[in-house]
This record gives sequence, C-alpha cells and structure tokens, in this order.
Amino acid sequence: MRTTAEVVVVGAGIIGASTAYWLTEMGLRDVVIVEQRVPAAGATGKSGALVRLHYPNPYETRLALESLRFFQEWEARVGTPSPFVRTGFLQIVAASDEEKLQANVTMQQALGAPVELLTAEQVAELEPWCDVTGITVAAYEPESGYADPVAATLGLLERARRNGAELRIGEQATGVEIIGGRVAGVQTSAGRIAAPFVVLTPGPWANSLLAALGLDYGLIPRRVQVVVFRWPVEPAPRHCCGIDTALGMWFRPEGETATLVGLESGIRQVDPDRYAETTDPDFVAPARTAIAQRYPMLKQGIVRGGWAGVVMQSPDGRPLFGPIPEYSGLFAFLGDSGTSFKTAPAVGRVLAEWIVEGMPRQDVQAFRVTRLAEGRPWIDPTDYSRPDRTVSR
Ligand SMILES: Cc1cc2nc3c(=O)[nH]c(=O)nc-3n(C[C@H](O)[C@H](O)[C@H](O)COP(=O)(O)OP(=O)(O)OC[C@H]3O[C@@H](n4cnc5c(N)ncnc54)[C@H](O)[C@@H]3O)c2cc1C
Repeated sequence: MRTTAEVVVVGAGIIGASTAYWLTEMGLRDVVIVEQRVPAAGATGKSGALVRLHYPNPYETRLALESLRFFQEWEARVGTPSPFVRTGFLQIVAASDEEKLQANVTMQQALGAPVELLTAEQVAELEPWCDVTGITVAAYEPESGYADPVAATLGLLERARRNGAELRIGEQATGVEIIGGRVAGVQTSAGRIAAPFVVLTPGPWANSLLAALGLDYGLIPRRVQVVVFRWPVEPAPRHCCGIDTALGMWFRPEGETATLVGLESGIRQVDPDRYAETTDPDFVAPARTAIAQRYPMLKQGIVRGGWAGVVMQSPDGRPLFGPIPEYSGLFAFLGDSGTSFKTAPAVGRVLAEWIVEGMPRQDVQAFRVTRLAEGRPWIDPTDYSRPDRTVSR
C-alpha cells in the first residue's frame, strides 16, 4: 500500500474514475484512488445515465459532445466492453419554450452536435406508440442514448489500475492535509498518503471534507427517485431516451422490455448516509400518469421496481469544478446537480490536464468554483427549467 502518491483522488464515482483514467493515460503512474464504500456507490450507481447533448449553453454542450464521442469509442479507449446503448434522444418542451428550443438547437449544431428539429408528424413517425399531443417541434439526437453507469465506472478504474493506479476500496478520506497553504496529502481511515495534488470527487458527501477546510459552496444533497415499468405487450416497443420538460419527466429504455421514468417531484434534502433507497409508494402514480401521457400503453405498465439516489445540488444548478484557489494543489468536482454522468469523460480530461499540464486546453471558466462567491451565479437565458425545480438526467 502506497504512503505517497503524485495525486490522490477522493471518491470512485464516475468523475473520480474518469479523472484517474485520464491522469494515468497522460503518463502519471503514482495515482491513488480512495473509495469509502465501493466504486459507483454514490449518485453514479443510481444514475439514469442518459448520454445526450441537449444543454442550453455551449459550455456543457461541448463537454457532452466530447463525452458522447468517448462513449462511442469506448472499447478502443478503455479496453472493456462498451457500456453505451444508442437509442436516440428526444427533447420535448412546452409550447411556450419552443423558441428557446430552436435557439438551443442552432447553438448545438454550430458546435457540431448531431441534433435536428422534428415536427410532431416526424416524432410520430419515429415513435409510432408516442402520443405527440402538444408537441409542435422537438429536438432529436440520433446518436445519443444511455449507459450502464456501474460498468462505465468499473471500466475506467480497471484501465487506470492497469496503467499503474492503486484503487483502495473501503477506505475513507477523513481530511485533506494542508501545509503553508499547499496540499500535503490526505488523511484516511487507514493512515496518511502524502501527495502534492488532491482531487476531491466525493459527490453528495463533499460538505464535511469542505467544512474542515473552511469552504462552503452552499451544496445540498438531494434525493431523487426513479421507477421502472414493464411494457404490458410483447414484443415491447423500442423507444428513444427523452426529456419532456413540459411534463417534468425523463425516461429511457431499461433493458429490452421496460422503461425507466424520473420526475421533477418528491425531491428533498437528505443525509447521503441515511436515506430511503427505494421508491416512495406515492411516487409511482404520478410517474405512471406522466409517462402514459407520452406512451399511453404504459398506463397499464407493470411496476418492476424503482430506487432513489442522492445528487449534490449547487445553488445555481450547475457543477463547480477546477482548482480551489485557497489551497495550491487542491482540485474538486462539486455540485453535480444531477446531470454529470454524461459529461464525466470530458470533465476527467480537463481535471487531469490541469494537474499534468498546468492548464486545461479548453476554456472551462464557466464552471469555476468561485462564481457564486463572486455573485455571478450561472444563468442560461434559454433554459427551460423552472427555478425551484431540478430533474436528474
Ligand atoms: C436517479 C438519478 C438519475 C440520474 N440521471 C442522470 C442522467 O440521466 N444523466 C446524467 O448525466 N446524470 C444523471 N444523474 C447524475 C449523475 O449520476 C451524477 O451527476 C454523477 O454520477 C456524479 O458522479 P460523481 O462521481 O461526482 O459522484 P458520486 O457518484 O456520488 O461518487 C462519489 C463517490 O465518492 C465516494 N466518497 C465520498 N466521500 C468520500 C470520502 N471522504 N472518502 C472516500 N470516498 C468518498 C462515495 O462513496 C462515492 O462512491 C442522475 C443521478 C441520479 C441519482
């Protein structure tokens, strides 16, 4: 077991795994990843793991597009079976948001994203079992889909391990050691690891590590739920992944015969060490009502299970990542805000470049951890979401 490292990564969710992957692909060998439970034990293992491109700003769209390409090239890059399933993705919005949708698609296309606008008739042609009532225009991404988030995390970690990294499962980081304003290492439940660089990727457990460093970004762990409905027909229809902002819902196929549904409801603050991991009984009926509005056959859908996970919400609903300016050598990815599985391949690359090359090759200033303290929260004029709501997808 190493007592020194070039970099310690705290947390083996998809972001920590991707960071370790990239650090070792860029040539570092002395990388230690400490994981308090098991890999993907946090938000990642519970994720809907939609891999799509539709964001209302170029910064997240760029990360999502780079990451989609990574998922498409998974076997060549990672060397494990691909966790990615291509299904296509539909973004549906309320009539009042159609102009914003069109503006977002224009921006995404300018960045090279494979996305097009469909009329309601074209949506009906693509998805004959979909009720297109209320849709006049939708965004369609033919190359998008979803992934198995646990397989993705394990694949990246396996590659990092083969590249020389050490993965320590069941070991908790209890504090970051600072000497003279610089990172000196990490204290863990098993001892001390001296290191000049530490990357915090602890998901919804971030607050205690940050508080010990005198840092507070207003992050709130929030519980979100999903439920799985088996189609009541055989063969079950194959359908796209989708987000329907008008109905406050997202969905994707779950295997060959079922559909996974998430809603903008029942979301509340919890302790990530003590929360109900199964779906609340009163979540199922609204989820059924919502999905049946698009796929009427699912009114008779058979409940096959469901679960809850915890995401870390930032005050402006966008992730914060990069260097922590108070402490040289300290980096973090914080406040995933329920939307950071799909961008993890690109985020890991950026964090690794910062450490290995001193600067990322891409402008990611929008994600800087200081933006809230500067009084400049992230606001997207073409965002559809209502201010008091979030949806994990
Ligand atoms: C129900 C649900 C649906 C979602 N759907 C989507 C979606 O469709 N698309 C999408 O892009 N995103 C989605 N998300 C969000 C996405 O899953 C998260 O943004 C992403 O997984 C965050 O990854 P992470 O690595 O930052 O955090 P996590 O996965 O939470 O990982 C943090 C890890 O750090 C470990 N850890 C914490 N503290 C310590 C410590 N002190 N010492 C050692 N280890 C520690 C934890 O045990 C954990 O394994 C969804 C999330 C949920 C819950």
